[in-house]
Amino acid sequence: MSLDPDDWPALRAQGHKMLDDMFDYVEHIRDRAVWQPIPDAVRGAFAAPVPHEPTALAEVHDDFLRLILPYATGNVHPGFMGWVHGGGTAVGLLAEMLAGGLNANCGGRDHVPIEVERQLVRWAAALFGFPGTASGIVLTGTSAANLYAVLIARHWALGPVVRDQGVGAAPLAAYSSAGAHGCIPQAMDVAGLGRDALRLVAVDASHRIDVAALEAAIAADRAAGKRPFLLFGTAGAVDTGAIDDLAALAAVAARERLWFHVDGAFGALAILAPALRHRLAGIERASSIAFDFHKWLQVPYDAGFLLVRDGARHRATFAAPAAYLRRDEGGLAGGAFWPCDYGLELSRGFRALKAWFTLRVFGTERLGRTIAHTCALAQHLKQLVERTPALELMAPVELNIVCFRYRGRDPDRLNAGIVVRLHESGIAAPSTTLIGGAVVIRAAIVNHRTEARDLAALVAATLAIGGELAAAPPI
Ligand SMILES: *Cc1c(COP(=O)(O)O)cnc(C)c1O
Repeated sequence: MSLDPDDWPALRAQGHKMLDDMFDYVEHIRDRAVWQPIPDAVRGAFAAPVPHEPTALAEVHDDFLRLILPYATGNVHPGFMGWVHGGGTAVGLLAEMLAGGLNANCGGRDHVPIEVERQLVRWAAALFGFPGTASGIVLTGTSAANLYAVLIARHWALGPVVRDQGVGAAPLAAYSSAGAHGCIPQAMDVAGLGRDALRLVAVDASHRIDVAALEAAIAADRAAGKRPFLLFGTAGAVDTGAIDDLAALAAVAARERLWFHVDGAFGALAILAPALRHRLAGIERASSIAFDFHKWLQVPYDAGFLLVRDGARHRATFAAPAAYLRRDEGGLAGGAFWPCDYGLELSRGFRALKAWFTLRVFGTERLGRTIAHTCALAQHLKQLVERTPALELMAPVELNIVCFRYRGRDPDRLNAGIVVRLHESGIAAPSTTLIGGAVVIRAAIVNHRTEARDLAALVAATLAIGGELAAAPPI
């Protein structure tokens, strides 16, 4: 009844072909469109019913090559600059394969995949200057890590009773900049605190949280009988890349006795780039830090991380005894560190392996250089924009994100239209955001494959499409 192949040599040949196909894909990614619209027939192919009968692996793989691979997101491509997406690496691809073969369940038990994750925790603690008692866990991404941080801070503020009785009517208040990522209000919602308990504090001209406005908001809440408990700092705001003054926030948090969580989804990893790391000063005083391996570190999706200074508090937030899980006498059910005590997932894959391979194979210095390079490219794009009269820079370029627009009548519609046409052209894939209420073209340079020529292509295509759309009669 085994599902293993009858013919291992044939499986081996097919497997090698599949691996080679993916190497070809990555090696020659420039020859493809960044993205292409999905033809109706392709989308329709996924209406096929439940497959009751088997299909040969080679045939399913042909379908993958024909129907799936050409219509992927495009973030492997150097012309992809939308949102904040990592480009992946061939090393990460191979590590994913190894993890698939091991099929380890990293919820707990005594096996070395858990030690790999523990080593990642120690490495993260060392990089951010956290103590040896810090804890950490690999998660799907920063959205999950930010939610975990809210849950841990909630436990810290209300004590263990919150696990039995919930938050009740506790008048807790939290603070973030108005430029914080949307997953932060969502985390407040999901944690039962409600989005209204999050104060979105105004930002300054550099899109950093206004610290005086923050202090005023905390004072107003205290005067109104609220209980401030949690301060979010942003290291790498999603719109502009702005980094809050983390040292000032750490001081406010210490004075006001707040849990200080840093959303460093991509920006926290600027710690690896010597020329950038001073911008994160203060992050070493955070209570917790969330960041993604799958963005600036180019680890394949998905892999995020939460680092917590007070490992005991982290564990107390989630750990639950269950008789069927473990025994302390040793054997496979032993092991001192069970990741399921540090989160919601009991069964969890070996995500840590691809991050571990990436860090070991490239080393933090080289990874830091690729991070610094994306910021240098952003400065280059900024200069291209400033030198081009038809374009207008819309926000300071703090890290690796450039917000600009094409000048013209009805600029919001014009620029939204340009971005759609850019995607359809297959040349470049920036995204859009709102800066001061205006629709702007937003290029986030995250991919390690992106080069100056990709930025030149983005600008040229923007000018060509912008000229065409601006000349078209209004409809
Ligand atoms: C991407 C991002 C997130 C969300 O992270 P995911 O890994 O997509 O869940 C949160 N905050 C910031 C600043 C981000 O850039």
